Amino acid sequence: MKEETKIFLKEKEMPTKWYNIQADLPKPLPPILHPQTHEPTILPPPLFPAALNEQEFSKERFIEIPDEVQAVYKMYRPTPLIRAFRLEKALGTPAKIYYKYEGVSPAGSHKLNTAIAQAYYNKKAGIKRLATETGAGQWGSALALACQYMGLECKVYMVKVSYNQKPYRRIMMETWGATVIPSPSNETNFGRQMLAEDPNCPGSLGIAISEACEDAFSRDDTSYSLGSVLNHVIMHQSIIGLETQLQLEKAGVEADMVIGCVGGGSNFGGMAVPFIADKIKKGKKTQMIAVEPNACPSMTKGPYTWDLGDVAGMAPICKMFTLGHAFIPSPIHAGGLRYHGMSPLVSHMHKLGLLEARAVDQKATFESAITFARTEGIIPAPEPSHAIKVLIDEALNCKKSGEKKTIVLCLSGHGHFDLGAYDQYLSGKLEADAYNEESVKKALSQLPKVDYVESK
Ligand SMILES: *Cc1c(COP(=O)(O)O)cnc(C)c1O
Repeated sequence: MKEETKIFLKEKEMPTKWYNIQADLPKPLPPILHPQTHEPTILPPPLFPAALNEQEFSKERFIEIPDEVQAVYKMYRPTPLIRAFRLEKALGTPAKIYYKYEGVSPAGSHKLNTAIAQAYYNKKAGIKRLATETGAGQWGSALALACQYMGLECKVYMVKVSYNQKPYRRIMMETWGATVIPSPSNETNFGRQMLAEDPNCPGSLGIAISEACEDAFSRDDTSYSLGSVLNHVIMHQSIIGLETQLQLEKAGVEADMVIGCVGGGSNFGGMAVPFIADKIKKGKKTQMIAVEPNACPSMTKGPYTWDLGDVAGMAPICKMFTLGHAFIPSPIHAGGLRYHGMSPLVSHMHKLGLLEARAVDQKATFESAITFARTEGIIPAPEPSHAIKVLIDEALNCKKSGEKKTIVLCLSGHGHFDLGAYDQYLSGKLEADAYNEESVKKALSQLPKVDYVESK
C-alpha cells in the first residue's frame, strides 16, 4: 500500500460528540474552591452560562455537539492529519511523523473550536456581549470571529507586551468586529491599580483575566470567556484527538507518542484525552508529552497545589501545577504559554502519571521551527514550536536506536502573525529564556493558604 501524505476525513465523518474524560478518570478531579470561603464551588454564575457550568463538572462521557456549532466547525473541519515525509527525510529518522494541523481554521489556531461553542451557549442564555483576555492574540481573534458568527459583541483585554508586539492580531480582531485594549488598562479598577504600582507593567495573562472578569461582573449583559484551562474548554478541544484517532486508523498506524505544547493545556488536552482514555481503559502504552517553555515551566518546576486562577482573586482557587498567581514570566514570544498555572485537568492527569512534561528553551524552539518550516513549509506559531523541538529530539533518538516509532504532533496554529519573532531569531537577536527562580520563589510565597482536605 502506498502511504498517503494527507489523511482527510469527510465532513460526514466529523465526530458529532465531544469526549469528556471526567467520565473515565481513575480518580475524580479535586473540586474548585471559592476564592473567599475556600469551600467547593462552581464557576462564578454571573461569569458563565449554566450550560457551560454543567459541562465543567459533567460526568457524561459524550456530549452532543449542537448543530449550529457543527455547521461552523464544517467551515474548516475536519482538519488534516499530515505525514511529515520531508521532515523525516531531513532528519534521517526511521520514525513516522504525523501532525494534526489546526492552523487551517480562519483564526489560525485550535482556539476557534471552543470559541464557537462558548459563543453559542452564551447566545442561547441570552447574553449579548463577551469579555475576555488574550495573550498572543490567538484566543482574542478566535473569540472575535465566534462572536461575529453568533451575533455577540466582543471586548478583548490584550496583554500589553503582545499588543505592542502584534499589531496585526489586534487588527484581525477589529476586522471581525471586536474592541481591543492593552492590559493593564485604565478601564477597570484592577487595571488602574496595576498601572499605579508600575506604569510600565508589561501585563500578564493573570492580570488580563482579572480585568475581563471585572468587566463581566460589572455588566448584566456580559459573560466572561476563557480560552483554555477549564474542563469544558478541553472537552470542546477533544474534537482534535477524536479526529486524529480516526485518521490514524485510516492510515493503519497507532501512535507510540503524542506531543503537544501546553500554555493553559487546551490543545494538548484536547488532542490527548481520547488517547489517555485508551491508556486507562485498554492499557495502551502511548507516551503523552506536554511541552512548556523554560520561562514558564509550571509542570516541570512548579508544585501541585491550590492557587488562584487570576491575579486579583476573582476566579476560583484550583488544585494545579503552578508557579504562583503573582508570577509574571519574562516576555517570551510564545505569548500563549505564559500562564502561571496549568489546567487542573491536565495537572490531575499528570499527577496520576498519565502524561509527562518537559520544558524547552525559546531559542532551541525557533531553531526547530525553522527546520520544520524549511521541510514541511508551514511556518508554525511559537507555541507549538516548543512541541516541534521535542518531536525533533525524539525523532533523532529513533535514528540512534533504530526504532520506528509513530509520533503524532498537535500543530495548534500557524505563525503568520509571529514573523517579528522569526525576524529576531534570523537576525541573531532572539535570546534564550532563562528560568527566573527568584521570582518564582517570591510568587510561591504568596500562594493562598488553603486548609481544604480532599476526602479519600
Ligand atoms: C493559545 C495557544 C496555545 C496555548 O494554549 P493551550 O490552551 O495550552 O493550547 C498553543 N498554541 C496555539 C497556536 C495557541 O493559540
